[in-house]
Amino acid sequence: MRQREAKVGANGAATPWNEQQQRQRSAAGRWLDADEAAAALGFTPRTKRPPSCSAINAVLAGFILALPKMVILVGVRTSASAVRISSAHVVQPGVSGERSYDKLLGGLLADGLDERSCRSRYQSVMYRRRPGKQPSPYLVSKLRQQEALQRRCGPGTAAYSHALEQLRSGRSGGDTASQGCKYLVSISYRGLGNRILATASAFLYAVLTGRVLLVDPSNEMGELFCEPFPDTTWLLPPGFPLASYTNFSITTAESYGNMLRNNVIRTDVGDVPASQLPASQLPAFSYVHLDHDATEQDNFFFCDEDQRVLRNISWLVMRTDCYIAPGLFLVMGFQEELGRLFPEPDTLFHHIVRYLFHPNNHVWGLVTRYYDAYLATAQQRVGIQVRVFGSQPNSWELLEQIMKCTQKEKLLPELLAAADPASPAPSRKTKAVLVTSLKSWYYETLKGMYWEHATATGEAVSVHQPSHEEFQRFGARSHDAKAWAEIYLLSLTDALVTTAWSTFGYVAQGLGGLTPWVMYRQDNDTHVPDPPCGRDVSMEPCFHAPPFYDCRLKRGADTGKIVPQVQHCIDMSWGLKIIHRS
Ligand code: GDP
Repeated sequence: MRQREAKVGANGAATPWNEQQQRQRSAAGRWLDADEAAAALGFTPRTKRPPSCSAINAVLAGFILALPKMVILVGVRTSASAVRISSAHVVQPGVSGERSYDKLLGGLLADGLDERSCRSRYQSVMYRRRPGKQPSPYLVSKLRQQEALQRRCGPGTAAYSHALEQLRSGRSGGDTASQGCKYLVSISYRGLGNRILATASAFLYAVLTGRVLLVDPSNEMGELFCEPFPDTTWLLPPGFPLASYTNFSITTAESYGNMLRNNVIRTDVGDVPASQLPASQLPAFSYVHLDHDATEQDNFFFCDEDQRVLRNISWLVMRTDCYIAPGLFLVMGFQEELGRLFPEPDTLFHHIVRYLFHPNNHVWGLVTRYYDAYLATAQQRVGIQVRVFGSQPNSWELLEQIMKCTQKEKLLPELLAAADPASPAPSRKTKAVLVTSLKSWYYETLKGMYWEHATATGEAVSVHQPSHEEFQRFGARSHDAKAWAEIYLLSLTDALVTTAWSTFGYVAQGLGGLTPWVMYRQDNDTHVPDPPCGRDVSMEPCFHAPPFYDCRLKRGADTGKIVPQVQHCIDMSWGLKIIHRS
């Protein structure tokens, strides 16, 4: 990715960057020279180089121990099958008596939507052991306001037709803005995790700026989810006047960055309402390019004076493959509102993703059938997300990393040697491990290890993997449905281990309200990082391609040190992450 044409030196002064060094990676596996970019900023990768081990005996030798060390976390088992539904609460019989569930998640979800057409919306709460975080009353009221805005200005309304007319005419949006209807179209592309992060980010920006969010329905975005807003659609209808919007890219002349560069837009006109500006100064729309390769000018989006210009443009089209919310905390004009919406800032994505993304009935069937068959009866569920790429060979080192991480963090019990006389009596405690991966080898090997060896605690460990698709595919409906179901299943576990840099894991942790253990990236394929993993600082996703610019000082800066709610990520040293400093 190209960052600001600056890096932060030891004295904070900006120095030019070599463009090749600036290439960063927006999601796992995309750019190979990300570490170079991080190094140029002075960030060090989290990985070190301990001795490696490359055969199963060596792997097993490290994990088969004679003495039990583990403390088992036991929860209350609930069966999700027998359910009674009341208007706002779901009552479910369980081992410890009836449990009552708040199906509206503290007011996060609107009441009264048709339950049969979207079973997940109100049923998902019954599958979660933890209730999730409570939204602030202000967030709840703001969501109801946003829903009203989506209904008033969304597709099918007179305001929407009027706004489309204006867009077709190429005129600026003064008239439309006077009706209070401004729009943000979110382009959908890349993997499912990226698409969900991009849409959640766009929604947050829409709420902050009073815009209607419309989602590009391509890449299955129109298929996998229920409509989040009552009595309207969030999907951009066919016939959108900007016919080639899905091809908008860094070179698009109407991108905000290019318009700034070419003086089509200027920020020095101040905070003047659109209707009072000469039409020549305001385009009918602007394309906001916040992709991994965003330029310096594109990233001025995260500056207050640019936001003052953007808010007068009726139509924005946004492309990002990132979670940009940490960048919005850098905009002073948003800070107070963000503080009111999210008094616990590290719950931002948790609330938005639970509000917006409900599996459709088909995907919900995949989730619930799998959960009921393989996970429901276990006393503890551990999710392990193993992000691998199709061309990568099976790696003993990665398996070693998984085992070291889960045993060191007491998530999985250690194994005894086959003929160990100290074998403990069976404890009747059960643990289900949910592995998700494109490959089956990690699951099969793990399962074999826990079958062939007793555990030091006597626990029974079962290992499960719903699918192994082998390669990432684009635009394949059943592939995306499985990916979505597996993200959701991971979110239903009690403890989660994720792979660094993966947006797939970020979505699972946000949905589940889980602060994961992150497996650090290996320096190369032959070294297991030491430590193998670490507990993340929050359940928030990492913004992989943030700006490195202080808008007030107008120079390069370490944006992980500007506001207290944002710091660098543990899995990507230059990325930005929202945290809660108490
Ligand atoms: P990221 O690339 O790791 O950031 O995650 P994304 O979700 O954006 O893209 C990876 C894509 O590869 C997913 O959306 C799936 O299509 C596929 N994929 C990767 N890992 C898995 C997995 O464990 N299970 C399934 N079903 N698909 C996966």
